[in-house]
Amino acid sequence: MKTKFPLSVRFSLTTLLILAVVTVVYFFSYRAFYTANTQYLFDELNQTTEKALEHQLIRKGLSIGKILSDNLFNPVYTLNLDHTYQLIKPVIALEEVKRIYVIDSDGLIFHDGTKNLEEFGLPPPNVEAIEQAVTQKKTVVLDALSSPTDKERLVVILPIAEGHVVVGSVFIELGQDTLHQDNLTNRRILEKIQAEGQESFLLVQLVVLLISVVLGLSLAILLSKSLTRPLNTLINHFNQNEDYHKDIPKFYRDDEIGALSDAYNQMSAKINRKNEAIRHLAFHDTLTQLPNRSKFTEHLETLLKATPRHSIHLYFIDLDEFKWVNDTFGHGHGDVLLNTIASRLTYFTSRNEAVINPDTADLNMVSRIGGDEFVIAIVDLDASKEDLCVQEILKQLREPIQIENELIQAGGSVGVVLSSKFDCSANELIKYADMAMYRAKDNGKNAYVEFSESMRQHFEHQAIIEKELHSALNDLSQFEFWYQPKIDLNSGKLIGAEALVRWNHPERGYIFPDQFIPIAESSDVILQVGEHLIEQAIMALKRWLSQNKISEEFHVAINLSARQIYRQNLPRILRKITQKHGVPAEMLQLEVTESLLLNDTEKANQVLTELQKLGHSVWLDDFGTGYSSLSYMQRFNFNGVKVDRSFVNDIESNDKNFNLVNAIASLAEGFGIETVAEGIENREQSDIVAALGCTIGQGYYFAKPVPRQQFEEACLVPEKLQANHTLLFKDQMC
Ligand code: C2E
Ligand code: CA
Ligand code: CA
Repeated sequence: MKTKFPLSVRFSLTTLLILAVVTVVYFFSYRAFYTANTQYLFDELNQTTEKALEHQLIRKGLSIGKILSDNLFNPVYTLNLDHTYQLIKPVIALEEVKRIYVIDSDGLIFHDGTKNLEEFGLPPPNVEAIEQAVTQKKTVVLDALSSPTDKERLVVILPIAEGHVVVGSVFIELGQDTLHQDNLTNRRILEKIQAEGQESFLLVQLVVLLISVVLGLSLAILLSKSLTRPLNTLINHFNQNEDYHKDIPKFYRDDEIGALSDAYNQMSAKINRKNEAIRHLAFHDTLTQLPNRSKFTEHLETLLKATPRHSIHLYFIDLDEFKWVNDTFGHGHGDVLLNTIASRLTYFTSRNEAVINPDTADLNMVSRIGGDEFVIAIVDLDASKEDLCVQEILKQLREPIQIENELIQAGGSVGVVLSSKFDCSANELIKYADMAMYRAKDNGKNAYVEFSESMRQHFEHQAIIEKELHSALNDLSQFEFWYQPKIDLNSGKLIGAEALVRWNHPERGYIFPDQFIPIAESSDVILQVGEHLIEQAIMALKRWLSQNKISEEFHVAINLSARQIYRQNLPRILRKITQKHGVPAEMLQLEVTESLLLNDTEKANQVLTELQKLGHSVWLDDFGTGYSSLSYMQRFNFNGVKVDRSFVNDIESNDKNFNLVNAIASLAEGFGIETVAEGIENREQSDIVAALGCTIGQGYYFAKPVPRQQFEEACLVPEKLQANHTLLFKDQMC
């Protein structure tokens, strides 16, 4: 971020402005003071000089007067004009002496200093002063000071006396004009000196001030730089290190800047510690401290991009019995189990010298990416050790774990994928390993499956179907029910039908449920499709009832998915639809598989009981294929069981299946419920299952599932609803 007005510029400009103002004010006020002061001094000097000159003149006048008065006694006493003239002649020649009168005892001019005695006998000027001098026998001075009106004149009057005898007086007038002239000249010189002095003085002042300004400004710039330079360093540092990653280089200053940088470094250290903790939390699993999915994916991505290329074996692990451990022993045991597996796998991937490539061991990574899911990336595994490696991983999972007094064995299913076989992203690779893991689990747990190209194609196809399923939700009429008859094996009557979904794909034609139901079941797609199908079955029943094709004894059986039980309010939906169309709930039977009940037995029980209360009968489908069919028979109050077709289709030749169906039928009889044998393909099978006690039969022998209209036309005819099946279904109409 660049500041528009940096602090240094502001500081310098402000200083410059202050200095300029101070300088100008100082300069002008100093000049005014200086001028006033020098003017005063010059005036004083002038006056003093003037006075000094005047006093000098007075002294001169007095000394001349004294000489004349001393020497004029005799000539005046003897009235000797010549002698008098001889005495005053040299005096009158003096430049300063303007007039000279020798005055007799009568107070009249005896001699005026001229040759012709032009004023002889005339009264002199300043008679009073002359009288004063004569009578008081003292010298009288008339000057500019005593007579301000007579500025240019200086008069000295002295008595001419000897002892008590006064014979007259001498009057000397001195001119001050020359004095003034000199004074004026002096003054001009002084003024010139003053002006020159002032000019050079002010120039010096100006230079001194300018130097001060320059020095002040430089100082300000230096000062501001010393402040702003570290600040700029800080700003640059902040801008470049938004995540407070690096420390500011230390300033080693004892001032606020030093304290600021230290405070920043302390703050960034704290932030870094916190960030580190947050990063760790964000990228690690809190229970096992293993890297989490984000970190693993990032690491895998880096490995995939590295040159030269690494070969990566990616293992996706899902513990087989984790849920069981958690449910049976509690979460504490579950956590210990996860931690033990985590440390075993970590140890194996970093230390197992028999398998792991020591050069790239530190690139291997174990991560926990789900509740009981782990992934392992093993880098540059020797091809000859591939099998050993996966067996070793399975062994680590299988190894019993002692928790308190319990010895727990988790086991796990492993999916493997090799990066060298697929050019794909880290996420895709993890997905492939995950898919392979599911295959391994389906194959019977505690095993591994390597992801192959054909599996990829299969999953790709699945993905396409999934996408198309979503778009088919906009036109649910693409999903339609086909109906397969259910026959009372005793009477041969058509007593109902199983509704089996078909997807009438606009481009691919009819798609069978095995191709899309598992996919629909993996998302909420099944909920919308399921609700639509329920309404289709109810509407079909309503239609057939209204057409009197069936009685209320007839039923349609639909298949339910786990999601429909757990993720929506199925009883409410069913009540709504049956009530809407006025069809008795008893006419809609529900088939559930054992696997569906596994997820949450309690919830399933609650929902199924509620459905039964509504009037629906609930049947256990594919009986015998699961692991604990019998325990479910005990836990749920099924209205009947459907023997899986895999037991029926070779019952005539397979004794084991014969015995099994026999046992199932007896069991059902014991529970007081009915048994449907599905997958009956021939007369013999039909007779056998009937003989073994199965009450209802379903299979190609009677009819294949057919579209509704065809079912209506071919099956919902009075003969078939009443007569003996052995005759009526012989024609294999469907
Ligand atoms: P299922 O419930 O066990 O359905 C019986 C399957 O056996 C049907 O296959 C049917 O066509 C077939 N079948 C009937 N008689 C014979 C026979 O004599 N020989 C042989 N080989 N097969 C026979 P379909 O229609 O392909 O359905 C497959 C599975 O799809 C069903 O198994 C059911 O689990 C599921 N499914 C079908 N419709 C729906 C549905 O509407 N919703 C749900 N959730 N699942 C459905
Ligand atoms: Ca079924
Ligand atoms: Ca079945």
